[in-house]
Parts: sequence; structure tokens; C-alpha cells
Amino acid sequence: MRDTNEMELVFDSISVNEGFARVAVAAFMTQLNPTLEEVADVKTAVSEAVTNAIIHGYEKEVKKIRIHCQLKEQVIYIEVEDYGKGIENVKQAMEPMYTSKPELERSGMGFSFMEAFMDEISVVSEPGKGTLVKMQRKIGKGRELWTTQSL
Ligand code: ATP
Ligand code: MG
Repeated sequence: MRDTNEMELVFDSISVNEGFARVAVAAFMTQLNPTLEEVADVKTAVSEAVTNAIIHGYEKEVKKIRIHCQLKEQVIYIEVEDYGKGIENVKQAMEPMYTSKPELERSGMGFSFMEAFMDEISVVSEPGKGTLVKMQRKIGKGRELWTTQSL
């Protein structure tokens, strides 16, 4: 069996597509045989990244968001990209509780959730050009151990 598989999605930056993107990635990752918790974690991370692209990247203008996913040896690699306004200070943006939109009652926890639920996250952004969020998560970590011990 091939141990790599890739997919790409391009969709409009409207809030109904947040649910679509989350479910599409969840469906794609099922071939790694994830636990429900692993699926829930990845869905949350995708959802936060896509919401950020819609709300902050495009500030509600309707443009395209791109998601790229690759499965490789039990790891899912996810990229969420927008071509919107970008982030001036990525380090500050990633701090827990930092939000540039307190008036919208955002809590500033999106990046913190992505960090908590994924193994790795990196953000590359350029003001006026857009933002690329890359995340990865190894699937089936606990189960591997259990299978070995139970033999
Ligand atoms: P919450 O996610 O809790 O609703 P938030 O979106 O403000 O609040 P984060 O998701 O942690 O918090 O993002 C922090 C800040 O980073 C945002 O307030 C915004 O200024 C900036 N940011 C995040 N993603 C993008 C993006 N795709 N384009 C432009 N700015 C972004
Ligand atoms: Mg957010």
C-alpha cells in the first residue's frame, strides 16, 4: 500500500465553509485510522485556521482559501492559506489571549488551540500578501504502544 496521499481544496471565505473544511479534512484523515479524539483535535485546529482566514485575513470579503493535506506514514500535514491582509507581528499574534479584534469578542485563543491540538505549527505571513499556517499531527501514537504491549 502507498504510504502517502495528498489532497487540495480551494473554497470561498464564507463562514459555512468553515464546517465544510473541517469535515473534509476529517474524512480525508480517516484512512489513518484515527481515534475520535484525534479527529476532534484536528477538526478544531482546521476550524480555527479557517475562521482566522475568513475573519482576519479577508475581513469578511469573499476570496479564496486553500487547504492542502498530506498523509505520510501516520502523520497528517495540513496547510491553510489565505491571500489576504497578512500579519505584521506573527510572534505577538500567536501569544495566548492576543487578539486584534476584541470588539468582536474574540478571545485570542485560536493559535493557542492550534498549538495545543497539533504536534507542530508554523505561521508564515506577509502584510498585504497573506498568511500560511502549517500544522502536523501524528495519528495513532497511543495505539501503537498498546498494540505492541498486547502482543
Ligand atoms: P479567537 O480565535 O479566540 O476567536 P483571534 O482570532 O483574535 O480570537 P487567534 O486566532 O489566536 O485569536 O489570532 C490572533 C490574531 O492573529 C488575530 O486577532 C489576528 O490579528 C491575527 N491573525 C490570525 N490569523 C490571521 C490571518 N489569517 N490573517 C490575518 N491576521 C490573522
Ligand atoms: Mg482566531
